[in-house]
Amino acid sequence: MVIETRTPEETFAVGERIGRNACPGQIYTLVGDLGVGKTVFTQGVAAGLGIHEPISSPTFTIIQEYESGRMPFYHFDVYRIGDIEEMEEIGYDDYFFGRGICLIEWANLIEEILPKDLIQVTIEKDLKQGFDYRRITIMETGGDKGAEKK
Ligand code: ADP
Ligand code: MG
Repeated sequence: MVIETRTPEETFAVGERIGRNACPGQIYTLVGDLGVGKTVFTQGVAAGLGIHEPISSPTFTIIQEYESGRMPFYHFDVYRIGDIEEMEEIGYDDYFFGRGICLIEWANLIEEILPKDLIQVTIEKDLKQGFDYRRITIMETGGDKGAEKK
């Protein structure tokens, strides 16, 4: 599925819809360059889960947990991860295989430990379409769910 947005509010709304429909145990990966809107999208997901506290990028902690929504929300930002060991140290599998939803920014950096079943979200700019244009591609992988969901 491909969704195009032209304002941060629209990107937030895409995240919000995902948050509203999210199910426990889902893992969302979020990939895109710096400044593309990953945090805006994540704030929308949190709002959709009923979390109203501020969401920032957990850049120095790898993970930030939010328990105030309709299910636990685990927000990872692995941009600064040095070694996959750091994921072991925080006990990542309790989150990945727990009852909340995980959202992992820069998930491409920890590919080797990602489960098969993921919902991959990619956000891209296309400057030809204007500075605020974003293309958001959402794809479910793994299991027998098949490839791209239309
Ligand atoms: P990232 O987390 O990917 O580094 P942020 O979400 O922190 O990026 O920042 C995205 C920036 O781009 C914000 O300043 C936001 O206002 C701006 N922006 C402009 N257009 C859009 C859009 N269509 N969707 C999301 N963000 C946008
Ligand atoms: Mg960010």
